[in-house]
Amino acid sequence: MTKEECIFCKIAKKEVDATIIFENESIVAFKDINPIAKVHILIIPKIHITSMNEVQEIHGNIMKEMLLNVPIIAREISELNEGYRLIVNTGKRGGQEVMHVHLHLIGGQRSIFQS
Ligand code: 5GP
Ligand code: ZN
Repeated sequence: MTKEECIFCKIAKKEVDATIIFENESIVAFKDINPIAKVHILIIPKIHITSMNEVQEIHGNIMKEMLLNVPIIAREISELNEGYRLIVNTGKRGGQEVMHVHLHLIGGQRSIFQS
């Protein structure tokens, strides 16, 4: 798959619809199309980075931007006031299906990740 075919690049470029809940010049956060909990948001860089395994020094600012905006996004969602899960699936054995690095921000009710 080339980055021209990448679904998350297309969402970032507004070529594919998504419910965007936060955006700045380097990242986008949008609702997962198949949520596993009441709140399930994906946070992505606008540039194509395949997975955590491809993150390099030059991506430092963008990774920082993704993480620093987690509490800013979470504060706006009442269901996340008491906490949330942040998950980064990586590679085939890590359950990664979309090969564009993303954070799953999950919460709001018990989910398969909680015991
Ligand atoms: P992964 O398994 O790669 O960590 O997670 C990919 C996530 O992207 C899945 O939770 C899946 O539901 C979500 N997803 C896949 N395609 C789309 C799409 O076109 N739009 C949105 N909003 N989410 C998607
Ligand atoms: Zn991409």
